[in-house]
Amino acid sequence: MYPVVKNRTYNRRKLLVVAGVLFAVCVGLIGRLFWLMVIKSEEYAKRATELHERERSIKAERGIIYDRNGVALASNVPVCTISVIHAQITDPERVIAELSERLGLGEETVRKRVEKNSSIERIKSNVPKETADEIRNLGLDGVMIDEDYKRYYPYETLASRVIGFTGSDNQGIIGLEVEYDEFLMGTDGRILTLATAHGAEIEDAAENRIEPVAGYDLYTSLDMNIQSYAEQAAEKVLKAKNANRVSLIVMNPQNGEIYAMANVPEFNLNEPYVLTEAMLSGVEEELDDETKTELLNAMWRNPCISDTYEPGSAFKIVTATAALEEGVVSLNDTFYCPGYKIVEDRQIRCHKSGGHGSETFVQGIQNSCNPVFMEIGARVGINSLYQYFKKLGLFERTGVDLPGEAGSIMHKAENVGAVELATISFGQSFQITPLQMLRAVSAVVNGGRLVTPHIGVTIKSQDGTVIKTLDYEESDGAVSEETSEIMKELLESVVSEGTGKRAYLPGFRIGGKTATSEKLPRRSGRYIASFVGFAPAENPQVVAIVMIDEPEGIYYGGTIAAPVIKEVFADVLPYLGIEEEYTEEETEEYRTASFPVPSLVGMSVNETKELLKSYEFGEIHYLGEGDTVTEQFPLAGESVKQNSDLILYLE
Ligand SMILES: [Zn+2]
Repeated sequence: MYPVVKNRTYNRRKLLVVAGVLFAVCVGLIGRLFWLMVIKSEEYAKRATELHERERSIKAERGIIYDRNGVALASNVPVCTISVIHAQITDPERVIAELSERLGLGEETVRKRVEKNSSIERIKSNVPKETADEIRNLGLDGVMIDEDYKRYYPYETLASRVIGFTGSDNQGIIGLEVEYDEFLMGTDGRILTLATAHGAEIEDAAENRIEPVAGYDLYTSLDMNIQSYAEQAAEKVLKAKNANRVSLIVMNPQNGEIYAMANVPEFNLNEPYVLTEAMLSGVEEELDDETKTELLNAMWRNPCISDTYEPGSAFKIVTATAALEEGVVSLNDTFYCPGYKIVEDRQIRCHKSGGHGSETFVQGIQNSCNPVFMEIGARVGINSLYQYFKKLGLFERTGVDLPGEAGSIMHKAENVGAVELATISFGQSFQITPLQMLRAVSAVVNGGRLVTPHIGVTIKSQDGTVIKTLDYEESDGAVSEETSEIMKELLESVVSEGTGKRAYLPGFRIGGKTATSEKLPRRSGRYIASFVGFAPAENPQVVAIVMIDEPEGIYYGGTIAAPVIKEVFADVLPYLGIEEEYTEEETEEYRTASFPVPSLVGMSVNETKELLKSYEFGEIHYLGEGDTVTEQFPLAGESVKQNSDLILYLE
């Protein structure tokens, strides 16, 4: 026992010695660390930075965004960054003089940077390549030129809110540039040139170059030509109606590919921080930062997907579809419209105050008669009606591949009484986006397939290898084939005989529905005139919606919005290879006897009467009070058939 105890004591002592030594070493180390980390850190950090400051990043080339025909909608231009390395400059006065002159910078600014004793100092970025080449040719010691890329939008304003733009860090800010950022961005490279603390470059550093990897290219369904047609037609009506803005979407109803999405006035993607004239109208000259940011956000907003509206009469397409599917109405059922319908304690008016009188269901659609739709809506009932809303995608976002999509605003079924049901039946008291409307109509006319509206189609590498084929959800059975067939015919008759006749285009079969929605709050006199149309009616290849926001003067969708879609289709249908087919009657009547509408704005009533003697118009409607024509429909220069009506608005 004894030796063991002795041994323990010995061990304990030994341990104490070891621990003591360790403790001393630790204290020493900690002290040294403290010295290095705290006392000397500043100096080390400085040295480390100086060593690494020569790590210059090489911006990756961002992927290109192409339209469906391979036209680049967003690409890059080479630009350069000019820097100086203080330690290598041999003739500072010449460097200062040349750089300030060629880069358009103040001499003092350049001097400060040239004389600063740092490892590398940036003088200017985004310098055009030609200027950079001129500077390179001067062979100035200590001046560095790095090649770089800048995002460039060749068509400037084209589809601005859809394509989007990037920030200085090469990151997408709105539109497709954000949605596909991860593919487009690429990976920046680096040049790891090592330099001593005094700025002298260390030789053999060339191997430390990490090449940038270019981003992938995005191929889209957008069609530059269709987009241009849409923007032109929208611009024309924007001006004629002095509207806030005009939005127009053109889509393939069979697969959801968006050909065009216009919101005029568009803004210039190469100068996204410059407010458009439209945004600045009514704004005082001095803008504080907060107001400017608000206005920029408003300018960048895409109303086709981010704003909701009451769809109004265009929504009768959905109510009619539900009623036909439920079998609660047949085409020849008769209705009577006295100009209103009594629902509970309310008298809800038809747009025709004198009433449409006796009419069939077919005529009810052609006339866009509210009482007919209130009646069939009541027959369907809110629960069934909402089932069709759901099948037609109206309770969900469309899933379009753009950021910032809004959803619909609907009453809960249990809160819908008879009055709400009546107004819902003709498109009021709820809100959807224009794209939701277009998607629902697509399903009605394509045989019942609910498609996902989209723009991105394929992602490819620079050498053309397919990286990803983008897939979108589709589901069948939203509407039966039978109802779809009937709806196409009904909506074609709206254009050939009903309220949509200003969208009639000889040689083509167009279906559609007009709408005039009052903006909220009601009775403020602000409207959205719209028209949704498709063609050819028997097998739709294109569906389009136009929204004219706050038109001045005449604001009826049938009068001002339908002709816009007619104009777009007149360009788009032949472009898509859809051939005109004239009926015998059309051949005789329209092909031989269409003529351009003369310009009548500014004339007195008598002057117009004199001039119009030599034209073969049908009825000429003089609206308003006064003697001077302030507006005309159709617009001057449009081609119309013999015996077309002409509307002149007087003040
Ligand atoms: Zn009516």
